[in-house]
Amino acid sequence: MRVLQRTGAWLAAAAALVVAGAGPVQASEGAAAAEAAGSPSTQARIAIEGQFPGSMYDFQAYWFTDVGNWWQSQGGAPFAYYRFPAPGEWYPSPCGDGPDDSAAFYCAGDDTVVFSQALATRIWEGTLDLTGQHGGEAAGDMGVVYVIAHEYAHDVQFEQGLLTAGLPSIATELHADCWAGAYARAKQDAGLLDTTDIPEAIATAARVGTYDYADPQFHGTPEQRVAAFQLGLDSGRPADCAPVLETLPG
Ligand SMILES: [Zn+2]
Repeated sequence: MRVLQRTGAWLAAAAALVVAGAGPVQASEGAAAAEAAGSPSTQARIAIEGQFPGSMYDFQAYWFTDVGNWWQSQGGAPFAYYRFPAPGEWYPSPCGDGPDDSAAFYCAGDDTVVFSQALATRIWEGTLDLTGQHGGEAAGDMGVVYVIAHEYAHDVQFEQGLLTAGLPSIATELHADCWAGAYARAKQDAGLLDTTDIPEAIATAARVGTYDYADPQFHGTPEQRVAAFQLGLDSGRPADCAPVLETLPG
């Protein structure tokens, strides 16, 4: 019920944007100002809990920027472009076929994270479930943030040479999940999450796992992806995710 309410609120906000002509930039600045200004427990929760700028694009952009800021707080200076194509929109990625409405990836060729708004919406609503075994758990905004943190992690991996180190892709995928968990821990420690957010991220990590071991793009089983995320969440320190590159969790 809570998820449906929030999804409905987002749809209503998107409709209002069209009617009222409110500028997404203005809304985005409002959210950022609210987070910076007030008490963490209320203002920040507002930012992540649904009163985000009036479109999925703005939500994705806001948290993408936040993930980048967190990486800077870890002593790095990461940089990546982002593209959040609207439903049906085409973006010519150098990583092969242009992204479609199910795209979520980082491409080192143009240093860009691509994450379609349609896929983000399905994650938010909990209707994305690659194995068909993880419906019914919590879905929501934090699932989308988890995916953003995962893809941004690939950018940092690339900048650190991990993506080109000859590691099996599953190792860097689960390592990215672990880093997403460390980012989530930072948000939790800062009082930015409500009680449903971590379950939302974990449920999403389970939903995007598969058992398709033969797939060269295999990212890990639902159990492995949850375990990797949990490792980062428990630690909160990106460095503690390094063992994932050698020994797969789960
Ligand atoms: Zn990945």
